[in-house]
Amino acid sequence: MEYRRLGRTELNVSVIGFGTIKFPQVDADEANRALNRALDLGINYIDTARAYQDSESKIGAAIKDRRDEYIIATKSVTRDAAGARKDLETSLNELGIEYVDVWKIHSVSDGDMFKQVMAPGGSLSAAKKARAEGKINHIGLSMHRDLKTMKAAINSDEFEVILLPHSIINQEGVEDEVIPMAKEHDMGIVIMKPFSDGLLISNMSAEERQRADYDPIARGSLRFVASNEAISVVIPGMRNVKEVEENVAVGNMTEPLNDEELKELLAEIGKLGREFRYGQTCLMRCKYCEDVCPENIEISKVYRAVVMATSYPNNLKSMGAELYNSLDVKPSACTECQKCLDVCIANLSIIERMKDAASMFS
Ligand code: SF4
Ligand code: SF4
Repeated sequence: MEYRRLGRTELNVSVIGFGTIKFPQVDADEANRALNRALDLGINYIDTARAYQDSESKIGAAIKDRRDEYIIATKSVTRDAAGARKDLETSLNELGIEYVDVWKIHSVSDGDMFKQVMAPGGSLSAAKKARAEGKINHIGLSMHRDLKTMKAAINSDEFEVILLPHSIINQEGVEDEVIPMAKEHDMGIVIMKPFSDGLLISNMSAEERQRADYDPIARGSLRFVASNEAISVVIPGMRNVKEVEENVAVGNMTEPLNDEELKELLAEIGKLGREFRYGQTCLMRCKYCEDVCPENIEISKVYRAVVMATSYPNNLKSMGAELYNSLDVKPSACTECQKCLDVCIANLSIIERMKDAASMFS
């Protein structure tokens, strides 16, 4: 298992961590076996949250006697200081521990939420007080979608750790600017959803999955994220020993995928023909379409703009128009030459999407 520095916390974390969002789906014995196996295999970063139902109590029951072997991160979604403090006390009690290593303010995913957190009497003030008292050691936050608010949070320098959704299909676009900026600010960068909500997996039956040593699409996707050295730890959600063993193996294979491996992996993902989170169909990374487009349309960005404008929460839908307006060449320039169709590995109806986008944003 490779270990990396969690930014300026100076904690040394296993590159593969343990996400426990799925623990409500498993019984306490299964959780116990998975967690203990994970610690035995070198995982030392466990992520939970008040909002993950009985996840904290299952962790507490399973491994509180091994407290010096793991770093625990939990979260509170409550925005006011008093409520957040109450959440922290509950977390400590459920986990059966004296202090939390990293306490994250949960899902600060638009500008209004960020203002509430940062305001006098907001949850950040509770986090600072708890840190001064030794109830927590480090302050972090988790964020989705709103790239501007992510940058504002990073620039505030109040947070030592940031938890972001990311995968090989760059589903929320954090790879381009947000991750490098967080790295520049020496934050610990934790990545959730490396399988894009469980959709970056092969088409296998439950029996085939049980028999297989590993899933090649899941393995490649996890390797892709873990090989980014800016990232400290990736926390796939796990439910059992088999998933733990499958993911832990990637902790020893963090060299970047070579061009051929990346091409093959993207081709396999394209063949799945899946609709990912927020209705994303374009894989964003291959860009073979853009290589052949004689009009130089940034086709993947057009796809992203449509996803933002149609599937993001109402207060963030304008991100789509902003991205669209930033494009030098608008999709109305499409001459329907069909060159992109021959090379798109996800077999997308690109011409139709260019037309939809041109009419949607005009
Ligand atoms: S069909 Fe349109 S988008 Fe596709 S390559 Fe031709 S001009 Fe570009
Ligand atoms: S449109 Fe197709 S080839 Fe272009 S980036 Fe998206 S998935 Fe890749």
